[in-house]
Amino acid sequence: MSGLNKNKIGASVASIFRFSKKINNKQTEQKLQEAEEKFSAAFNASPDLMAITKFSDGTILEVNEGYSKLLGFTRAESIGKTTTELLIWGNAKGRQKFVDLLLKTGQVIDFETTLRRKNGTMVTVLDSARIFTFQGEKCVLSIAHDITNRKQFEAVLKEKEEKYYTLIQKIEAGVVVHGPDTKILVCNSAAQEILGLTEDQLLGKTAFDPTWSFFKEDGSVANVMDYPVNLVIKTKKPLRNYILRVHRSNDKNDVWVLISADTILNKNGKIVQVVVTFVDVTKRKINEIEREQFFRFFNLSTDIMVIADPNGAFKKVNPTCLNLLGYTEKELLSKSFIDFVYCDDKQPTLDEMAKQIKIGSSLNFENRYLCKGGKVVWLSWRATFNKAEGLTYATARDITEKKLAEIAIDRKNRALKIVSGINQSLIHITDENVLLNDACHIAVEIGGYLLAWVGFAVQDKNKMVEVVARAGSGSTYLDDIKIVWANNEYGRGPTGSAIRTGKTQMSRNISIDPKMIPWRKSAKKYGFKSSIALPLINNRKTFGTINIYSGEIDAFNDDEVRILEELASDLSFGIITQRNRAEQLKMVEVIKSNESTLKEAQRIGHFGNWSWDMKTDKIVWSDEYYRIIGFDPKKIDQMKSEFVSLASHQLRTPLTGIKWLSELLLRDPEKTLTADQNDLMNGIVMSTKRTINLVDDLLDVSRIDTGKNLNLNVKPVDVVTLINFAINEKRPLINQNNLTVELSDALSKPIVLKVDKEKIQQVFENLLDNALKFSTPGSKINIGANFENNQVTFFVKDNGVGIPLANQSKIFARFYRADNATKIDNTGTGLGLYIAKGIIEYHHGKIWFESKEGKGSTFYFSLPLNVSGVKK
Ligand code: ADP
Repeated sequence: MSGLNKNKIGASVASIFRFSKKINNKQTEQKLQEAEEKFSAAFNASPDLMAITKFSDGTILEVNEGYSKLLGFTRAESIGKTTTELLIWGNAKGRQKFVDLLLKTGQVIDFETTLRRKNGTMVTVLDSARIFTFQGEKCVLSIAHDITNRKQFEAVLKEKEEKYYTLIQKIEAGVVVHGPDTKILVCNSAAQEILGLTEDQLLGKTAFDPTWSFFKEDGSVANVMDYPVNLVIKTKKPLRNYILRVHRSNDKNDVWVLISADTILNKNGKIVQVVVTFVDVTKRKINEIEREQFFRFFNLSTDIMVIADPNGAFKKVNPTCLNLLGYTEKELLSKSFIDFVYCDDKQPTLDEMAKQIKIGSSLNFENRYLCKGGKVVWLSWRATFNKAEGLTYATARDITEKKLAEIAIDRKNRALKIVSGINQSLIHITDENVLLNDACHIAVEIGGYLLAWVGFAVQDKNKMVEVVARAGSGSTYLDDIKIVWANNEYGRGPTGSAIRTGKTQMSRNISIDPKMIPWRKSAKKYGFKSSIALPLINNRKTFGTINIYSGEIDAFNDDEVRILEELASDLSFGIITQRNRAEQLKMVEVIKSNESTLKEAQRIGHFGNWSWDMKTDKIVWSDEYYRIIGFDPKKIDQMKSEFVSLASHQLRTPLTGIKWLSELLLRDPEKTLTADQNDLMNGIVMSTKRTINLVDDLLDVSRIDTGKNLNLNVKPVDVVTLINFAINEKRPLINQNNLTVELSDALSKPIVLKVDKEKIQQVFENLLDNALKFSTPGSKINIGANFENNQVTFFVKDNGVGIPLANQSKIFARFYRADNATKIDNTGTGLGLYIAKGIIEYHHGKIWFESKEGKGSTFYFSLPLNVSGVKK
């Protein structure tokens, strides 16, 4: 539009404006003119449509440039025409409503309507209008603002919103849209389904009902601040991979949901919405929990758990497996598992594997595994082969302890069988050679050893060991080798050393034992892996050894050694008895042939005599007597002692067997015994123990009597510890009789003496046992020590029944018991003091007592402070 036209329009509008106000003075005219000009400028410059029409018929009086631009009519085409003529109103109803409003209030603001353009297209406008009077006629000033674009935009937006809504509804994930106040604005059906709530329950709610709750992964209840919407609002950050368990208020199961949440912000960065989406991950989560539980189980199990493939490789091993075998996981998985199996068990293990793949499982299969560092463990396996996967799932339990105990029992039993076999021979066999060969055969056949042989020490300058008996598959080994008992390389093996020292000697592993070098090659040829040499002793002199060879490394454990030592002692005894027997037979003949001479001698009474020493309970034979009967009557004593010794040996073995077997029954893990049977068994064990003690005492007595070695093992020992040990052993009896045992100050520090620990302890136990037995209940027992003249005197003092004066002189005699003792205690044997005396005298010591009947007794024994050896 031209500038001229603009002015024209301006003028016209200004004039209308002026007339509309009643202007009546010059001053205001000035202001009016200015206002007119401003209005005219605004009228012309407005991008919106502006028009002035007659109210009565709608004749257009003036339009602006915005009008022409919006509707396409020129000013000239429009002025003087009515809006109806120009068909400007797109909708008659709309026009009527507009007019009604205008009439009612005099003005209309932002009335949305459509106008038709010159070219027939429609335009949506917001129409505002005001009525004013011009030259007595009502006119209307209209301003219309084109909102077509906005409308279109809104329509697009609405369409989008609908699509968005449909999408939300159709999506399988739960979607909940919250307002900034956390109120729920939208929730889709998946959300309702997963959460177990209706739309009604959800919309507008800020918190759910109390029976409904979220739980966190650690099992704790999630409070409202842990809800996704609140977390997002708090942190203003999106939330990802948040997992909660939904405990739904209805009877449905709990569900696990994986949640994401995002904020929608406005231009100013303020949250307008929070969109929370979630999916049901219950199945996955339960799987995960189950997997975790399984792995926890796998990791915590105290049994070994492994997965292995049929090629013999571990696929997975649990920590117990690693701990037990001592290897790292890498080490175990890098090799075939058969490499870790103990050599002798490899083939049985492979056979079992093959069987297992064939039949699908294996139960209670036992084998040995090599741990890092060389230790060997016994494992008991249970395995299942899964054909589909080709994998074996196996568990194993460490049964080493049980197995070793079983082996120990087997060995004990084996040793016991050998001992009892040899003892049988001792009774029946009258020929030394037969006895020795028999002993070797028994050791090999019952014991399952590869070789047993007896060697005698030849008393010449070469100090050779002569093989006098042998048995076993490896007996030709002895033809290839040289063994001496001299202290040189051929004499430092177990046999030579046992003869020199009089002590049991062993080679636990021949293949690495340096002292076995001279015989290693031959031993290997015969498969000997360990050996033991047990000394044969008579009168404290070692005259030979019995030697046993095993195909196992370290085949002889402590118990077995103890039993085998007993065997050697029995065998020595047997050999000597055999040697004496001939002499004894000769003596019997002599006694018989001299019977008449003896009778005559007794009648005369002057040729020979004997006396009885009441103090020692010994018979002393005169030289004449010896001359008359032609042999030393002391031999009869010796024969008696040897009989006691033989009988005791015979008794001890079966008794020990009874004790072990009874204990085995009592220890039965299956607990097959009833309570009554259990009591009876305990009774058997107790009685057997008592009888074994008696037999042991008898053996000690016979050793003391025959002047045999008491087998003292002399070492520096703290005697105070022994005393305390003895007191502890007797604690039940002390408590039972309400007795007090008091130690003197001298026993507050160690007293170290060179003595045989077990024997001196035996002395203390005997003395204490007596003091306890013969004490009156509630009384006191004092134990103490005094040092004097380079010796220590121990005492055990009681306030008990005492020993009647008449019995005192014989109290150390064998089997002697005072008159008052038998009434108080019927378990005693009268051997304790006799043995104690023997032991103390072997230690160069003395034993004595002081006692008053009814007042109490004090038993003393003294030992040299610097004992350097024992009585020979
Ligand atoms: P046991 O105690 O088995 O009878 P001992 O040889 O130990 O055998 O003792 C022999 C005897 O000495 C006892 O029977 C008892 O008469 C007597 N005797 C030993 N110690 C005491 C003591 N402390 N009090 C009283 N009598 C004792």
